[in-house]
Amino acid sequence: MKRQTEQRRAKLRRLIKKDRLSAILVTNETNVTYLTGFTGDSSYLLLTPENQIILSDHRYGTQLQEECPGIDVELRGPGMTIAELTRKIVKKTKLGAVAIEAASVSVGQFDALTNLLDKVELVKTNGLVERLRQIKDKEEVAAIRVAIDLAEKAFAVVRASLRSELTEREVAHELERQIRLFGGDCCSFTPIVGVGDRAALPHYRPGHRRIGESDFVLIDWGARAQLYVSDLTRVLVTGRISPKLERIYGVVLKAQQAAIARIRPGARMEDIDAVARNVIAKAGHGKHFGHSLGHGIGLQVHEAPRLAEKQEEQLKAGMVVTVEPGIYLPNWGGVRIEDDVLVTKSGHEVLSSVPKELADCIV
Ligand code: ZN
Ligand code: ZN
Repeated sequence: MKRQTEQRRAKLRRLIKKDRLSAILVTNETNVTYLTGFTGDSSYLLLTPENQIILSDHRYGTQLQEECPGIDVELRGPGMTIAELTRKIVKKTKLGAVAIEAASVSVGQFDALTNLLDKVELVKTNGLVERLRQIKDKEEVAAIRVAIDLAEKAFAVVRASLRSELTEREVAHELERQIRLFGGDCCSFTPIVGVGDRAALPHYRPGHRRIGESDFVLIDWGARAQLYVSDLTRVLVTGRISPKLERIYGVVLKAQQAAIARIRPGARMEDIDAVARNVIAKAGHGKHFGHSLGHGIGLQVHEAPRLAEKQEEQLKAGMVVTVEPGIYLPNWGGVRIEDDVLVTKSGHEVLSSVPKELADCIV
């Protein structure tokens, strides 16, 4: 971990140098974790050409020593704000300008920092660390594989014990419990368990519907392990397969497989999105696929890059993205199929392995 975080900081130093900057104040908690290995919150990282200093508070003294050997630590007491601590440290370093993460500083924090650092220019930057985080190193991919494996094991247990009287919330709770029993930290987000027409709501919160109230249920879930996450979706058929379900399921699966087949370094993100979107539009359901095709996963469930319209950037080896087309029909339900895909040097590898032919989804 120490070696990886050192390499990440070196890359960030090179990135800010391009903007003629020599120091950056990293305020986004996830970015601090990525660059240092520190897993606590309410802390900043000040990165200068020679130093890396975590600005934190006394709750984290021991944890910082354990998680971030080799990184300087400055702790504030209860009578000092983090902005005041920042002033103290920046003053010592005699920096004339410091980059800040514009998307991760509130207006209040920005004002406080501007007032306190009156002789230091704060230069707004956007998405620098997020750009680095897009490309996963070997250890990150390994952690994502663990998170996927845990999610899949938990799903297999839940699937085998699915009964018609269970509510959506009970199924979601059982997924969380199984992930923990298998050794994961928790779900990577509150699982979506949508029975029947509830499956038409892409970000539904599980409620009191019972599995037996419809012919199918959509489950979108993931696990967190070793700081990294997985994110998967399957539809399970719990009743009869109507011709409509069969048709719509077939279109979504075809869209997903066509899009995955095109994933390789150099492919444009918007083009991958378009492949799936065209399959769905041709089947007459363009209007019923109202979200983008996929997103990066890593330390967070939704991170860069995005497989979406107007994303002209190219995929690069080391990216891990979800591919999750869906068709949602109000008052009927929805089908979404989601897998996690690694962009490799020669193409791609689908990291998740839950079977997804419709016949495989009958419980
Ligand atoms: Zn998902
Ligand atoms: Zn997703």
